[in-house]
Amino acid sequence: MDLLADLTPPQREAVTHVNGPLLVLAGAGSGKTRVITRRVAHLLQQGVSPHNILALTFTNKAAGEMRERIEVLVPGAKVWVGTFHGFCARLLRSHGSLVGLDSSFTIYDQADRLRTVRDVLDAMGVEEPPITPEKIEGAISRAKNDLATPKSLAHRARDDRDRLVAKVYAAYEERLKAASAVDFDDLLVHVVKILKEHRDVRENLDARYRYVLVDEYQDTNMAQYAIVRALSVNHPNLCVTGDPDQSIYGWRGANLSNILEFEKDYDAVRVVKLEHNYRSTKSILAVADHLIQHNVNRKPKDLITENPSGEPVQLTVYARESEEAEGVAARIASLVREGSYNYSDVAVFCRITALTRTFEQAFRSARIPYQIVGGVSFYERQEVKDVLSYLNLINNPKDDLAFSRVVNVPPRGLGKTSFERLTAFARDHGLTLLEAARRAREAPGLKDKAIRSFLDFVALYDELGALRDDAAERVILQTMEKTGYRQHLKDESRGEGEDRLANLEELITAAREFDLEHAGATIQDFLADITLASPVDRWDQQTGAVTLMTLHAAKGLEFPVVFIIGLEEGLLPHSRAFENPNELEEERRLFFVGITRAQRELYISRCRIRTFRGQQQATAQSRFLMELPEDFLTYDDRSGVSSGDSRWGQASWSGQSGYAPRRPQPTRTPMPTPSAGGFRLTTAAQLAGGGPSSIAAPGDLDAFRPGASVLHPEYGLGRIVAIEGAGPNRKGRIAFTLAGERTFVLAKSPLKLVG
Ligand code: ATP
Ligand code: MG
Repeated sequence: MDLLADLTPPQREAVTHVNGPLLVLAGAGSGKTRVITRRVAHLLQQGVSPHNILALTFTNKAAGEMRERIEVLVPGAKVWVGTFHGFCARLLRSHGSLVGLDSSFTIYDQADRLRTVRDVLDAMGVEEPPITPEKIEGAISRAKNDLATPKSLAHRARDDRDRLVAKVYAAYEERLKAASAVDFDDLLVHVVKILKEHRDVRENLDARYRYVLVDEYQDTNMAQYAIVRALSVNHPNLCVTGDPDQSIYGWRGANLSNILEFEKDYDAVRVVKLEHNYRSTKSILAVADHLIQHNVNRKPKDLITENPSGEPVQLTVYARESEEAEGVAARIASLVREGSYNYSDVAVFCRITALTRTFEQAFRSARIPYQIVGGVSFYERQEVKDVLSYLNLINNPKDDLAFSRVVNVPPRGLGKTSFERLTAFARDHGLTLLEAARRAREAPGLKDKAIRSFLDFVALYDELGALRDDAAERVILQTMEKTGYRQHLKDESRGEGEDRLANLEELITAAREFDLEHAGATIQDFLADITLASPVDRWDQQTGAVTLMTLHAAKGLEFPVVFIIGLEEGLLPHSRAFENPNELEEERRLFFVGITRAQRELYISRCRIRTFRGQQQATAQSRFLMELPEDFLTYDDRSGVSSGDSRWGQASWSGQSGYAPRRPQPTRTPMPTPSAGGFRLTTAAQLAGGGPSSIAAPGDLDAFRPGASVLHPEYGLGRIVAIEGAGPNRKGRIAFTLAGERTFVLAKSPLKLVG
């Protein structure tokens, strides 16, 4: 197959560049990911061994897609494509002993980390910490990503909070070490340490991974930078692609200077710029471009497209969130009904997952199939986590966290006191909890019944431990039988137990698939695979459902139709970023990432009233809305409330031009006056300039076109969604903001055009 035929000259230049560092610096949708994939295929065609290539992507999903595409281009080539974390986990299996890790180490996920922080705080006797365990956990994670040790953190602590974080960090590290566990950040940190301290290992790996490719380089952190750097000393055949405007993980430690300084870090860097966008319409691109120009901290960049202008980007204001969700659902339904799109062509993005609930409801009642990416991950569900904890303990007997999760699951009559006594005994004798349970008879204060339960558990464990080297599916099935967990769920109240069993069936299926794809793999491999999965990995664009996801998860993806919801101050930009100009710029980039996912149609919305954390509040429109170019937008206020917004209200919308100031609007949208119907509708007189509403004369009927706003004396404001028929029988289907969809014979209706 000709790998170069459908590439532009600069793309081709990047793909065919073989030796020496290469930086592909380019805008959204310009083919960066395509270049990486093709480059791998091209290297193989040039005779480079698959063994010598390492391609690093941001998610397993992206890696999977890349692997599939490489397979099509060069069948049978076994190239290592995956995430940084996956790569490091693999490396630590073979080289972990260099940093004191057993080969059977456990990988702690987010929930495990948080639980460990809580346990540490408990053990330290801190009852009311001045900062939340979540924040402490976040601070530890950031420290690790910056390659800071507990000591260096203690050294630079400025107040009591910092000192507490440093202390918890130290104890947290001790616990992980004792449990032979690592967290996500450790995977990177340990590898960095090995590469720094073991020259021979570094040189071998540098030679082995002679060609390194990194997509989305703008989101790499210090540790990832150090790994890439160390693998590219003797063989600096490193290719990175990225777009500084899409850097959205600063809050997780990503360091934009990694990409901005690439040219300084390596000698003789070839820089390729891609300036054509192949994804979006001109309108969408213009909106994205105008927005991002408001970032001060950026290099200007050109991005053009030969794609058609397309529809203007549509901005809609709703009264409240349920109407926003219903409005989006109605629009999706009509797009699909008109036959232009399938449900799977559509994505809805939001800033935070809490906003998806309202949409789920609206989609359900509109019978729109949907899938949510993110939220509570499948693997975090109680029953799944229980069974996986058994697997973790089977794999790593030192995993005290796993022990504490399963020792009383299903219930074995072990109370909190018995568990605390066992823990104290373990601590006093330097034992793991499993070892302590084995010696339960010696533990002070344990009752006979508790001793028996612990010993029974140990006997069960020994039986299960014999399965350690079996394939994952078998181990799960055996665990569910032998522990009595399956029976326990069957006995549970109907409905809930069935749901849980169904989830476990799904886990078994996942294990079966894994076993088939990875001959000879152990449960340890299976556990690593699922622990390192990101929410987006389980998402499938082909299932015929609308996708609901966060803006962060949408990175790198593309959809024909995109809705971005909740454009309100506090949500986007997130309130957390208000005080910090850098974080505000990151929020703007996040919006930019969302916009640039859209191929053909883009809808942006907000609502005037939002119930958030149980509070009903009038919202203020996002400052970002004022940074979008009017020429490429249409504006539709369906809130039925006269506007207090200075720019996006009906009155001033057409009158202004140029950029509005970038400061947040000082005026907050006034709370609309509630009436019997929820909100008082703006009257016909207000909207139509004073005259009484009248029946449209036949000659006026041509002016009724899809998209136009209309007013009905009884139903209020609406929008024409479709026109059927001709002449006196011409009918219009109107979607009313508050009254749903209705159809009228236009000549006989009291409808009046508005705006
Ligand atoms: P992002 O910044 O969002 O990650 P990207 O730069 O990685 O985007 P790709 O996802 O590689 O861009 O490409 C965007 C779209 O444009 C894809 O659908 C891709 O197939 C298409 N594309 C890229 N290059 C070309 C080309 N030369 N001709 C036609 N289509 C192209
Ligand atoms: Mg990409």
